[in-house]
Amino acid sequence: MKILKTEDLKKYYGNKENEVHALNGVNFYVEEGEFVSIVGTSGSGKSTLLHMLGGLDRPTSGKVFVDGKDIFSLKDEALTIFRRRKIGFVFQSYNLVPVLNVYENIVLPIELDGNKVDKAYVNELIEILGIGEKLQNLPGHLSGGQQQRVAIARALAAKPAIVLADEPTGNLDSRTSQDVLGLLKVTGEKFGQTIVMITHNPDLAQLADRIVRIEDGKIVNRKECEANA
Ligand code: ADP
Ligand code: ADP
Repeated sequence: MKILKTEDLKKYYGNKENEVHALNGVNFYVEEGEFVSIVGTSGSGKSTLLHMLGGLDRPTSGKVFVDGKDIFSLKDEALTIFRRRKIGFVFQSYNLVPVLNVYENIVLPIELDGNKVDKAYVNELIEILGIGEKLQNLPGHLSGGQQQRVAIARALAAKPAIVLADEPTGNLDSRTSQDVLGLLKVTGEKFGQTIVMITHNPDLAQLADRIVRIEDGKIVNRKECEANA
């Protein structure tokens, strides 16, 4: 089943005189349980695509289906609820709340939504991610790699079907990046989550089941690239 699918997705920024075509008709899909990397040069439209997949911003035209649901047919409030239920986000910056300890950060989104924490599941995440010793610490006392592992635990804590990660290891050294993404992959496989990750790093992209390339706001596949080369 295709858990994510876009239909001729277009996103233009700016006004008529100064229009940026960030997405030029993207037809993209991800199978349930897949780990897909999106690669492409800076400005090719990767972040814009990820924002659309996650319903963070509305397209100029075209559709996004998440689990079969045409998400932009939803009004803003319903879209927010749908997004919170289905999708976990990981960004380059960890965005942890500095005055809350690690455990409080991990469960905060669940509690803000008024939901009950599945303690057994969250403890399993904490164990896999290797942050059990740090639960009482404030984020400021952790290394970058540890903070990103906390951010991943937070993104996964509400059991999202889909995890969207935008340059999740952009602030980490290459060894730590491999480790952190390895853990993201392990949790994804263990809990059946679908992962879509943006990276400009080809070594990290290799960790995925599949690599999709975007250029000038369009998906290009290798055959087309070779034909044009
Ligand atoms: P990438 O993630 O591949 O670096 P982006 O999706 O961030 O690419 O950007 C694609 C294009 O859209 C770029 O030309 C960028 O400058 C432009 N863009 C992105 N966000 C905005 C915005 N909020 N307003 C105007 N232009 C934007
Ligand atoms: P192949 O010809 O072996 O499928 P390609 O170079 O054409 O390889 O594509 C690279 C990868 O990107 C493939 O795994 C392919 O399935 C995937 N891919 C190509 N187009 C899309 C798309 N529109 N949406 C999602 N994945 C795509």
